[in-house]
Amino acid sequence: DNVINQIAAGEVVEGPYSVVKELIENAIDAKADSIVVEIKEGGKKFIRISDNGIGINEHEVEQAFMRHTTSKITKINDLDTLITLGFRGEALASIASVSQVEIITKTKDQQHGILLEITGGRIVNRKVVGCPTGTTIIIKNLFFNTPARFKFMKSTQVETSKISEIISRLAISKTDIAFKYINNNNIMFTTSGKGIVRDAIINVFGKEIAKNLIEVDESNKEYEIKGYISQPEHTRGNRNYEIIFVNNRFVKSKIIFSAIEDAYKGSVVINRFPICFLYLNINPSLIDINVHPAKTEIKVFDEQAIYDFIYDAIKKSLTKEST
Ligand code: ADP
Ligand code: MG
Repeated sequence: DNVINQIAAGEVVEGPYSVVKELIENAIDAKADSIVVEIKEGGKKFIRISDNGIGINEHEVEQAFMRHTTSKITKINDLDTLITLGFRGEALASIASVSQVEIITKTKDQQHGILLEITGGRIVNRKVVGCPTGTTIIIKNLFFNTPARFKFMKSTQVETSKISEIISRLAISKTDIAFKYINNNNIMFTTSGKGIVRDAIINVFGKEIAKNLIEVDESNKEYEIKGYISQPEHTRGNRNYEIIFVNNRFVKSKIIFSAIEDAYKGSVVINRFPICFLYLNINPSLIDINVHPAKTEIKVFDEQAIYDFIYDAIKKSLTKEST
């Protein structure tokens, strides 16, 4: 029932960026290796996500928009995957209850695809169409039927930057997926999908940010850190370019920020921050991943150990470079 979906939408659909995030996650779940994201006016008016994934069978398209019909829960045996990717089966239902949705989808075994249009949770059109294998989903006029939520959306600029952040993080962490990001008809970036982290960083953040980066590659039995950090003279006035993934999930962690910044101490001016793109792998038994999947915090059991490991790894990488 649509009221329930609209209420659920309050949980899942915080705003345009969360729509983009859910839809990209669906594309990733569908094993796409090429994803195009297009937005207009901060996603408030228009969001289109196209993928070359497995598509939805013609008999299951409507079902995908019903609450709690996830096709995923039975396939998943790994708790980490279960938590990080969607398993609730309510994103599409929620989104469709508060917007105008058009989906075009085809599996490889079908001759033709299906186009389905849903407005405020109600199917208004369904037809057979020609299309490639995969899924394109268009979300127009988010919150058009829920004025209170509509008013709650931020300016186009703010909503756009939240979306850009999400896509940028995905593009530099899922480097074997080719991303293309278009904002108001301008191509913001494309990545190759060839799995080369440094190239993806350059594509997403530009040559200026990525210049003279120092490679980091250290590990011990429990921890591994890979990625790139800036020379001490290349800093920023904020932490926007201190980007950290733990077990391939974007996190903001005080203890990790401190370890990195302390390692730069003495070589970085106060209130300047290093640029870094760091990918940590931590034995899952040493962290609590069971925090809210939408949040960016993690709980580390032994903070001192992780601090020491990161501090040493950064120090070592910085000194290696200058000798
Ligand atoms: P969940 O992802 O939690 O299963 P969603 O509401 O996000 O729930 O999606 C519902 C279902 O629709 C998915 O389980 C999947 O079967 C199907 N689906 C959604 N998006 C795609 C896509 N891009 N490609 C293939 N199937 C999709
Ligand atoms: Mg989903």
